[in-house]
Amino acid sequence: MELDWSGIEKKWRQRWIETKQFEADPNKKEKKFITVAYPYPNSPQHIGHGRTYTITDVHARYYRMKGYNVLFPMGFHYTGTPILGMARRVQEEDKELIEAFRTLYKVPEQNIKEFSEPVKIASYFHQEIKSGMMEMGYSIDWRREFTTIDPVYNKFIEWQFRKLKNKNLVIQGSHPVGWCPKDQNPVSQHDTLGDVEPSFTEYILVKFKYENYIIPTATLRPETIFGVTNLWINPTVTYKIVDVDGERWVVSTECARKLEFLNKKVVLVDEIKGIEFVGKKVKVPERTEEVIILPASFVKSENGTGIVMSVPAHAPFDYQALEDIKKDGKNIEQNLLNFAKSIKPISIIQTDGYGEIPAKEVIEKFKVENQNSPSLEDATKELYSKEFYGGKLKQNTGQFAGRTVVDTKEDVKKWILQNNNADVLFELNDGPIRCRCGAECVVKILNNQWFLDYSNKNWKKDAHSCINNMKILPEEIRGEFNYVIDWLRERACARQHGLGTKLPWDKDWIVESLSDSVIYMAYYILAKYVNKNQIVAENVNDEFFDYIFFGGGNAKKIVSECKITKELLEQIRDEFAYFYPVNARHSGRDLVPNHLTFFVFNHIAIFPEKYWPEEIIVNGSVMMDGKKMSKSMGNIIPLRDAIRTYGADPIRLAILISAELLQDADFNLEAVRGIKNKLENMLEDCSKYKLKPATNLQQEERWLQSRLQQLISETTVSMEKMRLREALHYVLYEFDSDIQWYQKRIDAKNRADTTGILQEVLSARVAMLSPFAPHIAEEMWEKLGNTDSVSKATWPSAIDNKIDIASIQSENLLKSTMEDIKNILKVTKITPRRIIIYTSDSWKVKAYQKILANIIKGELNIGVLMKSLIADKETELVKKDPEFAKKTVNDILSEPAPAREAKVKIGLVDEKKILSELDSLVQKDFGVTIQVFSESDPEKYDPKNKARTARPFKPAILIE
Ligand SMILES: [Zn+2]
Repeated sequence: MELDWSGIEKKWRQRWIETKQFEADPNKKEKKFITVAYPYPNSPQHIGHGRTYTITDVHARYYRMKGYNVLFPMGFHYTGTPILGMARRVQEEDKELIEAFRTLYKVPEQNIKEFSEPVKIASYFHQEIKSGMMEMGYSIDWRREFTTIDPVYNKFIEWQFRKLKNKNLVIQGSHPVGWCPKDQNPVSQHDTLGDVEPSFTEYILVKFKYENYIIPTATLRPETIFGVTNLWINPTVTYKIVDVDGERWVVSTECARKLEFLNKKVVLVDEIKGIEFVGKKVKVPERTEEVIILPASFVKSENGTGIVMSVPAHAPFDYQALEDIKKDGKNIEQNLLNFAKSIKPISIIQTDGYGEIPAKEVIEKFKVENQNSPSLEDATKELYSKEFYGGKLKQNTGQFAGRTVVDTKEDVKKWILQNNNADVLFELNDGPIRCRCGAECVVKILNNQWFLDYSNKNWKKDAHSCINNMKILPEEIRGEFNYVIDWLRERACARQHGLGTKLPWDKDWIVESLSDSVIYMAYYILAKYVNKNQIVAENVNDEFFDYIFFGGGNAKKIVSECKITKELLEQIRDEFAYFYPVNARHSGRDLVPNHLTFFVFNHIAIFPEKYWPEEIIVNGSVMMDGKKMSKSMGNIIPLRDAIRTYGADPIRLAILISAELLQDADFNLEAVRGIKNKLENMLEDCSKYKLKPATNLQQEERWLQSRLQQLISETTVSMEKMRLREALHYVLYEFDSDIQWYQKRIDAKNRADTTGILQEVLSARVAMLSPFAPHIAEEMWEKLGNTDSVSKATWPSAIDNKIDIASIQSENLLKSTMEDIKNILKVTKITPRRIIIYTSDSWKVKAYQKILANIIKGELNIGVLMKSLIADKETELVKKDPEFAKKTVNDILSEPAPAREAKVKIGLVDEKKILSELDSLVQKDFGVTIQVFSESDPEKYDPKNKARTARPFKPAILIE
């Protein structure tokens, strides 16, 4: 009969609600405050969203079983423009979007009609996502739910922004931002197609002069103007002559457009082909000489200004392009070619490990063939970084001579900017980036707007220190955070449109979505009281928030102004002080360059150090059958649909079992079905075994109990490291193979008195399964005879004195010998009449122990080992069998270190006695009896002279 998954899941969810299982209030226990980035409700969740929340839930459930008072809350992020954009498209009766609502998201017609109102979209998907989270069994304290447009939340954000402004961390000014020219709004990750966080780089435009034209070139290395030998132009590109704030500039079409967004008045004057400038001479700023413009195909109109300055001594591209001209002179006039040939690189930077012309050296190292070789990028990267961090400017660099590149760069920039010999250009990294509306994003300098000053040096310093002192999983992400902290600059924190909180001092502006979502974890404490109407928006003021979050302040005044009792005020304060700081913050990797870093910055700005976050845990994305999930691929499975079809637990496991944190998980339905079967079998087993004190422990019980302890401690170590795939692997598969072996052993012996031990093993297994598959684990727990809930059970702990290493070794010997018999039968394809086993001679056992001791000491040299064996009377027989030593070394090395150490600990074992247990197994599996002889037994039956090949733990086998 088909198992009623949905019924079981409903039953336990209902039970959790009735017993208020996941509601966390302060108590005597130690707490864990586990949070995850709240969802943006503009669509229902699909399988991909499920991963981060499921990982967080497993984490929360694990800590609960470890005895902590765990708070895992959830809110909904309404703030921002994407929902606004959707509402507008509904108003415009956008067919594609409405069709997606209907068929993909299955929104009822009635609701779609209301979607011209942005809040209606948000609240519809809010409920949809929340239902999905409940159906997934997430152990959330729903009393603390809120949305970012709730009136008290608005007050909280106003308070936060006044705090930041008082600390000069919100500033008014003009700074570059990623921008959608169509929407006339700054863009961040939420707003772009493919959810990319727009980041950009500042280039210095060096102004070269030709007659009355300015020919600007973009560079990251302004100090290299001292080494310019020529300019590069693409002869086939049509350039624009534009009037830029009163000067005549020659730039590519793309560059002219970029300049318009940078506070410049740009007027088109004329167009001109690149070829027209080839051979012309330009004046280099700050130097007396003129240099020539040469043609080059590597110059792209979309990069920089479409014209490039050439520094062949230090820029591999420039060096190579010059070489290419010299080699392939036929496309170029003779006098130009002669000129090009006469150009000598000007070396201006001395770096350890490089000679006069570093560019030439790296080109040779990277085996670059011509200016279109892909390896040029790598050569350039390597040289730039070496010269930037290790280079010193030579005597030919004027007032900068003798200084290091790394600390001169800013001064050179200031100097040429001051003399009006340069300007600044911003370029989006990894462009083009498109806004959700389809327009290509640009970098715009926003004037007189509000910015969070992430350029602030002290703030950055604290952010680095917080990141470097916190736990980050996986560890390799730490560097990424430090990198982001370094490149972050002023960030526009307000928008003119969208849902959200108005800037308290300038009501024309709305705090944007990545700025109102940085310290909201603190708000979960308040939300519980807001939802009970014990905190009312009209009554709260800044002193109230100060009191709750920092303690102190004039309680009496707050009590009267905020119309709240003293007791309640103290209770809320105590609750905050109990749950804060955040112990773990979970999120997808895509939020590293924005949300997670802002979360750190703003906690530092607002809260004292004891409330700074303790841990960040980042996970990769989910693929569907190996492909990226996307609407356009048509492979998005809405989460709630999947739950209805397969059940929540199988989906949870299928998401988690294919990958560790940072890897991309691969979800596929075959895995879901396999897991479902496995869980159903486990459930069946749980009804079979009743709790009975285990008596009459035989060898196989001692072994199973030992394996149980080992699996408990291995699983626990994996959980502590959040290696969930590994933990699940133990719980689902390793347990299975041990139980199967045990079953085989007791079947062979026809034993029936074994349900006690199996109940013990299953109980631990079910308990460790429960964070992953909470519903079915409750059902199993009940079947095992428990009356309490497994969600509140104690996480099993390994009991060391229940580990009997001798029994583990004996079973391993039995298992491997059975394996060997099976393999021989497979290869020889004979039907066995008799099986004979030979255990090794006693000198071999002694030799084995000597070799093992030496290997543990680190001695692997066969010659040395042989010598010491021969020197010993007990083992000198090895002389006659030198292969034995070699094979034994390999036997030992193929085992993990703990197994080797266990062998040392146990010392001599009686293999003959152990292998006598094989008889019942062999009879059961192969229908024949076995005989066990010692190699030294003179009476042994050994027609094929097999016995002499026996080695310790590797008995010889004869099958007839
Ligand atoms: Zn747009």
